[in-house]
Amino acid sequence: MAPTFRPHRLQAPFATREALVRVCAALAARQLIAGQDGNVSLRIGSDRLLVTPSGFAKGALDVDDLVEVSLAGEQLAGRHPATSELGLHLAAYDARPDVHAVVHAHPVTATAFTLLGESIPDGVLAELMLTVGTVALAPYAQPGTAALGNVVRLLFRQHDVILLAHHGAVAAGRSLQEAHFAMESLEHGARMIHAARQLGRIISLQDAACDALREARRGARNGSASDAAFMENGND
Ligand SMILES: [Zn+2]
Repeated sequence: MAPTFRPHRLQAPFATREALVRVCAALAARQLIAGQDGNVSLRIGSDRLLVTPSGFAKGALDVDDLVEVSLAGEQLAGRHPATSELGLHLAAYDARPDVHAVVHAHPVTATAFTLLGESIPDGVLAELMLTVGTVALAPYAQPGTAALGNVVRLLFRQHDVILLAHHGAVAAGRSLQEAHFAMESLEHGARMIHAARQLGRIISLQDAACDALREARRGARNGSASDAAFMENGND
């Protein structure tokens, strides 16, 4: 028998739900998703998440379409079933207690790199190294399966942004804004590198410059960890 989802009142504050819906609209406006692509989640307590529903054009969601689930994946509230990629999101929260939001999208240029078996080259774009860090490439696993969560879980321990081979990308952040901006920056960086390749051979930054950028990223993240958590919890 097909599961039935009884309409329950959402517990998350209205402003929090609105923020998540706005991120979905921005992903669509930037063409990082198309059709019913993509999904977003946000930690709204020690044991629960607000997530996008399965199906739906994410650019036109209503706040009441959102779903609440436990960190074990059990649906707690909402009138629709949760995203079919819930396992991808739960893997990030499982791997990293500092993660407060996860954005999964299908950025065109960044995903195109995976069709060649490549990740986004590290050590070539200074701002990308500072804001996104090294982008991992997860081996192919079928969308919507537990296997996809399994291939990203370990990678999330070391990376904030992961390309999913032949599929898309997933970004974890200490706030909704951080995860959203990481996805935007990933695609923007991929477009720059693609443009550079049309012009000629890319010259990497020198090792000392790369080391300094990685050190600056570590320092910035350590300094802003508590700010990011406050931003999320203090908004409502
Ligand atoms: Zn996908």
